[in-house]
Amino acid sequence: MDRRNFLRTMGTAAAVAAVSSTELGAVTLGKDKKKKAPAAETGLRVRFLGTGAADWKGPDDRGEYRRLSSVLLDNRILIDFTPTDADMLPEGCKPECIFYTHSHADHYNPEALLNLGVPTAYLGKTWISKAWKGFADASAKTGVPVPEIVPLAIGETVVCGDIAITALPANHAIDATEQALIYLIEKGPTRILYATDTGGIMGVAARIAGIDPHVKKGTPITGLIMEATMGMGDKGDEDYRLFTHSSVNTVHRTVKMLLRRERLLLKDGESVYLTHLARTLHPTQAELDANLPAPLKAAYDGLEVVF
Ligand SMILES: [Zn+2]
Repeated sequence: MDRRNFLRTMGTAAAVAAVSSTELGAVTLGKDKKKKAPAAETGLRVRFLGTGAADWKGPDDRGEYRRLSSVLLDNRILIDFTPTDADMLPEGCKPECIFYTHSHADHYNPEALLNLGVPTAYLGKTWISKAWKGFADASAKTGVPVPEIVPLAIGETVVCGDIAITALPANHAIDATEQALIYLIEKGPTRILYATDTGGIMGVAARIAGIDPHVKKGTPITGLIMEATMGMGDKGDEDYRLFTHSSVNTVHRTVKMLLRRERLLLKDGESVYLTHLARTLHPTQAELDANLPAPLKAAYDGLEVVF
C-alpha cells in the first residue's frame, strides 16, 4: 500500500474512532496540499499540558512547577509529549496522533507515547531513522506495537479532520542533520503558530505561513504561542542559548511588528502565550502576570485557550 492510500485507510479508521469519542465529528486523515480543512463551527481548543523548558525536574523552591512543553489540540491531537505531561490529559483522552517538533528528550519520549496508545506520529523527515530506532527500542521494552511514523517535509500540510497542520522550520540546534519544526495550525478562520523550540521565527517559516511582510499579500495568523526560554530584559537577550531559543523580548519584538503589519490579528483582549519557560531564567507565574507587557501572557500547565 502506498503512503497516500495508507493514510486514507488510516483516516477512515480514525473517523470511526473520533465520531464515537468526540463531538468534533468526522475525521479524515490525509496529506494533500490542495485539500482544505472544512469550515469550523467552533474555535480551536488548545490545552497546555506543559509549559516548561528542560531544566524543570519537579517543583522548585518557590513551590512552582512546569511540566515539559506539550499541547493538546481539540482533545485529540498532541504536539510533543513526555511522561511529565500524562497527568494533565483530560480523563479518558485518547489522542489520535502526535506531531513532534524535534527529538530532544524534553519533547520526544517514545515510551510515553506507546503507553498512551497513540497510533500515528508525524515528525521531521530529517530524523526519521532516529525515530524508528527509538520507537523500536521502546516497543521491545513495553510490548506495545510501534505507531505509524510519518515523515514530514518543510511546508507539508497534514489534514486531520477539520484541523490542518503545516510543518515549518525552527531555528533550533540538535545535530548536524536534524531540522527542528514549528507548526502552523489552521481550523476554519483560526490560524495559530505554535513556535517552540526556536530562536525567533525563521524567514522561511514566516514566508510559508504568510506572515512575512516582505511579501505584499499575506495571510495573517490569529494567534501565537511562542517559546520564551531565556527570560525577560537584557539578561534574557544576552543568554548563551541565543542561537537556538527566544527571550521575552524576542517574542515582544516579533509580536509588535506582526501587529503593526497586520500579520497577526488578535481579538480584543486576546493574548500571545509564552511557553517553554526555563526554571532558572523566569520568575514565578504571579510575577510574570504582573510584569509581562501586553499582549504577552505566560501560559501555565492546565491552561485551556479557545482560539
Ligand atoms: Zn530542544
